[in-house]
Formats: sequence, structure tokens, C-alpha cells
Amino acid sequence: MLEILPKIAKIQASYATGQPLVLPLNLTISVSYRCNSRCKTCNVWQRPNDDFTLEEYERTFASIDRAAYWFTFSGGEPTLRRDLPQIIASAYRHCRPGIINIPTNGIQDAIIPARIEQVLQAAPGSEIIINLSLDGIGEKHDRVRGVKGNFARALKTYAGLKALKARYKNLTVGVHTVISNFNVDEFEQIYAYVREELRPDSFISEIAEERVELDTVGMGITPPLPKYQAVIERLQQGIRQSEASGVSRITQAFRDRYYDLVKRTLAEQRQVIPCLAGVASAQIAPNGDVWTCCIRAEPMGNLREHDYNFQSVWSTPRAAELRRSIKAGECYCPLANAAYTNMLCHIPTVSRVALSVARESAQSLITLRPRATQAKTASQPS
Ligand code: SF4
Repeated sequence: MLEILPKIAKIQASYATGQPLVLPLNLTISVSYRCNSRCKTCNVWQRPNDDFTLEEYERTFASIDRAAYWFTFSGGEPTLRRDLPQIIASAYRHCRPGIINIPTNGIQDAIIPARIEQVLQAAPGSEIIINLSLDGIGEKHDRVRGVKGNFARALKTYAGLKALKARYKNLTVGVHTVISNFNVDEFEQIYAYVREELRPDSFISEIAEERVELDTVGMGITPPLPKYQAVIERLQQGIRQSEASGVSRITQAFRDRYYDLVKRTLAEQRQVIPCLAGVASAQIAPNGDVWTCCIRAEPMGNLREHDYNFQSVWSTPRAAELRRSIKAGECYCPLANAAYTNMLCHIPTVSRVALSVARESAQSLITLRPRATQAKTASQPS
């Protein structure tokens, strides 16, 4: 993680000057629009398929080299690609990412754990985070995700992934819930089930957004702000009550701050901190279009037309125009993927997170000390 610090200064300089002085730190690779879910919050599966081949990824990753630290392999459903482990092996060989994040719907319970084990073997030096999508409990989940029996299958997949943790210390198994008009009223039950029954390594929740990428613009899936604010406050309460330590305390502090940003972004309808999409983060669509982010889904250029040279697409006049528009605040959103990179590159946010971690550490030392003293006294022979 420390290796990204020098890069953050270059990212800030890129943002200030509008010049692409550095390639993105955070890359989302959408490997296919194909999906075996039929979610009420997503129409991506209806988009035409023109997926990159393994060889095209190989050439692209070679051009990115060691620039990107955090990769997300998304879709559609990324595990539907049989060559997902080979694609990730290629990214690992060329780019050595510190973090690889993969969302899954968990439907192919007989296939996904073995496929993820191949990923773990292909990238032994990366932190691999698998996030299982869970948008309800039992039949409610099946209804929101549009597939009968999805919930039961997702639980089998989850058990298979958890079993891998005994052999792979670099695996994190998380749960991801999209809060939409279809499940916002049941959030408390979902949250209790996740915390008490599933006990994942991490739990994240995002609001269902109307996105160009997902073809959901105008569908009315986003819950009203007061309802979503109540969800966020519940999540923040959970974070603040949790007993985290070390790296997980820092992660929790960032997550708490992220939820603050979401509340303000939605209420104030503006970028609360500068969005560095197109500078620090970007997305590659299945056909090789490079986007600043999946919300705008506007291509800077296409890798096929630039001989798979990422730097060349990153330097187009269209990329410069998109950066100008984002910097001018012509869009805003609470997209988690971009927001975490934005926070990491925003010195006031990092300082606040550091302060809050230091404060909590000091508090826990103070509250532990009397107990430790009492324990010592109790164990002394009378
Ligand atoms: S604010 Fe949102 S929509 Fe605008 S560039 Fe950033 S991530 Fe994309």
C-alpha cells in the first residue's frame, strides 16, 4: 500500500493541470455484459456482447504495466467467463496489483469456488476480495435478482468461498447489498442476517443508481433520500460499535467517512470532494472502450483503435474534455469504487481518517488499562 504514496502526488498534479501525468491507480475491467441474473435494478445483460479476448487483455495489461494498484473484475457476471483466472493471471504477470476485487451473484455454486481458487493460485501476492451480492433474504432475494433458487445457491457459493479461506490467507469474502426501492424497507432484516448468520469479512452497501452502463436511466429504482439516509445511519452505527483493530480499523474509518460522503453527495447534489475519475480511476468496457467511470460511461477512446496502448487512449482530446467536465463539477454521484480512490487522494479526508483511528486507539487503550490492572490484581495471590 505504501508504494502508492508517491503516485498520489502525481495524481494530484494531473488533476490540477488536466494533463495525464500518470495512469490510473484503480481500474475496473468489465469482462463481459453476459449475466445469468435478471435483476430489477440492472439491464446490462441485454447489451450486445463484443468481449475482449484473452490475447487482447494480455496486450492491454502489458501497456499498463505496474501503474494500477487496485483492479476490479466486474461484469455482467465475471465468473461466467471460463478464462477469468487466465485474464487475472495476465493482469498479475504484467501489473502486480495489490488488490483484486471480484463481485459475484453466486448462482453457479458448483463452479464459482473452484474458479476463484484458480484466481487465488494465479495471483498469490494480491489481496483477493470476493463480494457476494445479497439483496434480500430467501425468496425476496430471488425476486429482486430475478432467478428462482438464487438465494440457496448463493449461500452454497458463500460456504465454498469461506472454505477456501483456510488455505488462502490472501482471500477476503465480503457481502455486497444494493439498496433499491425493492428492498429498502427490509434493510434491517438483511443487515441482521448478514451480521449474525453470514458474518462476512466485510459488508458494503450501495444505493441503486440509474446508470448508463446498466441501462437503468429513468427506471425509478433509487430509493428516496430519507429512507436511504436511515440505512446509512444504521450502517455507520454498526461500524462505530464494531471492535476492529489494525488495518481493519483503518478500513472501517474509511467506510464511515464514505457513508458521510454519500449522505452529503445525495443531499447537496454535488461533488463533496473532487472526483478523480479519469485521473486516478477508470473502467474498461468489455469491447475495450475506456471510460472515466461506469456512471457516465462515455468513452475516452477504444483500445482496439489504439493498438491496445492504454496510455494512448488516456491521452486523447476526448479524455481531456471529460476530465475538464468532471473537474467543473458537471456530474456527481456516490459510486463507491471511485469514491474510495477519491478519498485516498484527498489529504483532508486522509487526515480525518488518521485522526479518528488515533482517537479510537487511544480510547481503547484507556478503557483497556483499568481492566488489565484489575485482572492483574485478581490473579495476585492474597
Ligand atoms: S462524480 Fe460520479 S459520475 Fe461524475 S465522474 Fe465521478 S464517478 Fe463519474
